[in-house]
Amino acid sequence: VVSANAALIGGLIEACREVIATNADHLSELDRAIGDGDHGTNMRRGLEAVYAERNRLSELPLPKALEEIGLTLVMSVGGAAGPLYGTLLIEIGRQLGGTHVQDDFARALERAIDAVARRGRAGPGDKTLLDVLYPVHGEVLRRAGLAGISERAERAASLTFGMRAMRGRAAFLGDRSIGHVDPGAKSCALLTAAICRFLEE
Ligand code: ADP
Ligand code: MG
Ligand code: MG
Repeated sequence: VVSANAALIGGLIEACREVIATNADHLSELDRAIGDGDHGTNMRRGLEAVYAERNRLSELPLPKALEEIGLTLVMSVGGAAGPLYGTLLIEIGRQLGGTHVQDDFARALERAIDAVARRGRAGPGDKTLLDVLYPVHGEVLRRAGLAGISERAERAASLTFGMRAMRGRAAFLGDRSIGHVDPGAKSCALLTAAICRFLEE
């Protein structure tokens, strides 16, 4: 018998691994245009490492599992995205661990996003995964529902097309970074959509 908690954690991990494996080539292609072409490979390595640990992780309470997933991402993704996604998960886990109120997910997410922004010295409009995270948080706050959140995430990733990169490797391109979707924003939208799809079922 699998507990509800274990099914939730295992399912989330599987959904994330699957969407990244399916889209890894596309993510690396986006990164070839404005970076070094490894974002898909980096993310796939990270999600495979998390997947390999799924049985152990599924036994943990959700906040602790999220923290541990974050630590695994920091250690395995490599590249800029590892510490940023890692910080996001570690902080969501820590914040959720400190409360028992379900509604505080929005607050936990907000604090975690702030931690990512500090870590990357980045903010809104800098053409990074934060340009997906901020609108996702906005939708969570106004209780948009899973379909609304996932649509908003996809739209937010598309909107990075017109932005000029201010952080990370893409920033070296200056104006030439305009006219390309940011790979980190795209992976973030894909993960958000995969999580929403899983939670809807
Ligand atoms: P690397 O650039 O080291 O090869 P990845 O290709 O895995 O790392 O990840 C690149 C993505 O990381 C970018 O598309 C962007 O979304 C995100 N990123 C890079 N630097 C920063 C930063 N300082 N703050 C926020 N996000 C960043
Ligand atoms: Mg890269
Ligand atoms: Mg790299």
